[in-house]
Amino acid sequence: MERYDIVIVGAGPAGLTAAIYARRASKTVLVLEAKAWGGQIINTPDIENYPVEAHISGFDFATRLYEQAVGLGAEVRLEKVTGVEDAGSAKRVVTPSSVYEAGAVILATGSENRKLGVEGEDALVGRGVSYCATCDGNFFRKKDVAVVGGGNTALEDALYLADLANKVYLIHRRDSFRGEDSTVEKLKRKENVEFVYNSTVTRLVYDRRLSAVEVTDKLDGSVRTIEVKGLFVAVGRIPENENFRGLIDLDAAGYALAGENCRTRTPGVFVAGDNRTKAVRQLVTAAADGAVAATEAVKYLNQ
Ligand code: NAP
Repeated sequence: MERYDIVIVGAGPAGLTAAIYARRASKTVLVLEAKAWGGQIINTPDIENYPVEAHISGFDFATRLYEQAVGLGAEVRLEKVTGVEDAGSAKRVVTPSSVYEAGAVILATGSENRKLGVEGEDALVGRGVSYCATCDGNFFRKKDVAVVGGGNTALEDALYLADLANKVYLIHRRDSFRGEDSTVEKLKRKENVEFVYNSTVTRLVYDRRLSAVEVTDKLDGSVRTIEVKGLFVAVGRIPENENFRGLIDLDAAGYALAGENCRTRTPGVFVAGDNRTKAVRQLVTAAADGAVAATEAVKYLNQ
């Protein structure tokens, strides 16, 4: 069985940053990634909210981060981790082809956007469809946009966009919101926000870019076409923690319960990034989590 001081699950910004910190502390590091290194940020055409870099594509950002981690001696392998077993001071990290032994494990598996499931949604990412208003909202300055969802993310996205877009349609499948009333009240005071209740997006209208969304009223079946250049989908996220249920505590939505020190209830198991309970899920906070989790893991190993 191959043994590493720290095995990191997930090669997104949190996992790769953790690898950098762990290598700089002279620990042996294996990063296991199920899909492609870089995480969800590789889908972002232009990052303009990461300190120092005014503009960088998600792909370039991820490539530079990957090269930095590998350059410092981290090993990165494409293998999906199906479970982690706690054998006290050693952890066993299981993939379909191997079992690795680790002194400490950092789960940086991230989360997936829940999708609407309408035709064209995937193809239009970066061409009108976005899952992150704070990342992409600036591209829709003075344009008409729509937000779908009724949770706090959708409400806060709509509020954020109302200050920069020309008009914001907030499309929700019910007539009451899961998100906070106080935010709903703020939105109601915005003159450029229109609430579209009891409605679901049933078609995206596009050529090369999104030009409109078709929404169907769930009560009377009527269909309305709303011309928008941007559609912000905020219908929840799916944290990728299911394989670790039993090892760490999860909240009702499936996020790993851990404080700012990234420690879980299992000594030697840490979480970093979007799969952790936290208020702000951004590139910069994922990187911060990676640094904290690795520092805590090193402290744990040196005890
Ligand atoms: P969420 O609370 O799970 O809300 C998802 C929303 O999307 C719900 O309104 C849901 O409708 C709707 N929805 C789900 N699937 C849909 C579909 N297929 N089509 C159309 N609509 C769909 O997710 P979230 O807003 O991302 O928030 C996640 C967690 O983070 C929550 O606990 C939230 O409070 C928290 N959060 C907190 C803050 C903050 O504290 N400032 C900010 C953002 C998020 P229904 O209501 O009908 O189910």
